[in-house]
Amino acid sequence: MPEKVVIIGSGPAGWTAAIYAARASLQPVLYEGSAPMGLLYLTTEVENFPAWPHVDSSALALFSKTALTEDRYALLSHWYEGKNAHHGKRSAFGPEQMEYMRQQALNFGTRIVADQIEKVDLQRRPFVLTPQSNPPVEAHTVIIATGASANYLGLPSEDKYKNHGVSACAVCDGALPRFRNKPLVVVGGGDSAVEEATYLTKFASTVYLVHRRDQLRASKIMQQRALANPKITMKWNRSLDEVLGKDPPVGVTGARLASTVDKSKEELDAAGVFLAIGHTPNTEFLKGQVAIDDKGYIRWTTPARTNTTVEGVFAAGDVADSYYRQAVTAAGTGCMAALDAERWLTHEGLA
Ligand code: NAP
Repeated sequence: MPEKVVIIGSGPAGWTAAIYAARASLQPVLYEGSAPMGLLYLTTEVENFPAWPHVDSSALALFSKTALTEDRYALLSHWYEGKNAHHGKRSAFGPEQMEYMRQQALNFGTRIVADQIEKVDLQRRPFVLTPQSNPPVEAHTVIIATGASANYLGLPSEDKYKNHGVSACAVCDGALPRFRNKPLVVVGGGDSAVEEATYLTKFASTVYLVHRRDQLRASKIMQQRALANPKITMKWNRSLDEVLGKDPPVGVTGARLASTVDKSKEELDAAGVFLAIGHTPNTEFLKGQVAIDDKGYIRWTTPARTNTTVEGVFAAGDVADSYYRQAVTAAGTGCMAALDAERWLTHEGLA
């Protein structure tokens, strides 16, 4: 029997779609993908997701302990127990929020498959989706919520030192011993760059924030915090010219910056280079199946709906949104996609 709804992706959009579809008795199946839990899993405190004011860390520990299964609680327990436990008040961290969303979807009966959809045939009905390891699955509707992945500049030196001092995720890698009490470089001027730079000040001696213009793109509140942080040194009007280093395992030893306003260059000592220069939507596997725009984002075809160019295929979250790209808007469009899918199934007599 074809599935009524298959959801591809496990960020805020995917889990919200799953919660709505499951509560509508559509028995959704969700494929988690190769980078489960989306970009929010790579971030720290999420201060702008409604209903998560600051609260004592021990309250979040209790919440996680009672809301999650033992094995999933264990993934977060380093924040609650032991020498790295977080003390004081804070909003929920990104990974906590994602675990709560996942659990909520599971509680209502979502079937979760730890696999990546690699190929889709949306030209025939029911649609056929082919995962990497499991057998192909047929579906009457599909919700694509595959999000976006971090961009790199494409320098050969950047590639050479990936995982040896070059990273696109401060939260994942910042605490590594190689970065402790050393100068670090962050490239970018948006919220991600500012957030990564601020986070890295916990470990680094100095963080150089390298931006190609003389003004940050990041939101005002994040900018103010970064600019007031004595451990962050702004490198305005500069781009990353080259990552400097020695063959792994030594890896990154510095960065050469080039001015964007004149021909000058400078070299900085640094143990790490963190790229935070935006993201590319994960739509490679959809080529030729559904319309995407020139930047690779899925095209929504109907105002205020999640419809795509293929009837019965809906898109939610960053994979279709190059403009807002917020966790809460992703969750919102995930909800919309599930409602759109449910209505379409009812209209077609397939619900
Ligand atoms: P972004 O807003 O697109 O910013 C990308 C930054 O990288 C820009 O400053 C851009 O410079 C720079 N950049 C792009 N290509 C570059 C290149 N080739 N060389 C040098 N610099 C380059 O991306 P983001 O910071 O990842 O944020 C994405 C979305 O997520 C945004 O909507 C943001 O608000 C949201 N977000 C929110 C939070 C939060 O609220 N806690 C945290 C992270 C992200 P220009 O400014 O010159 O274009």
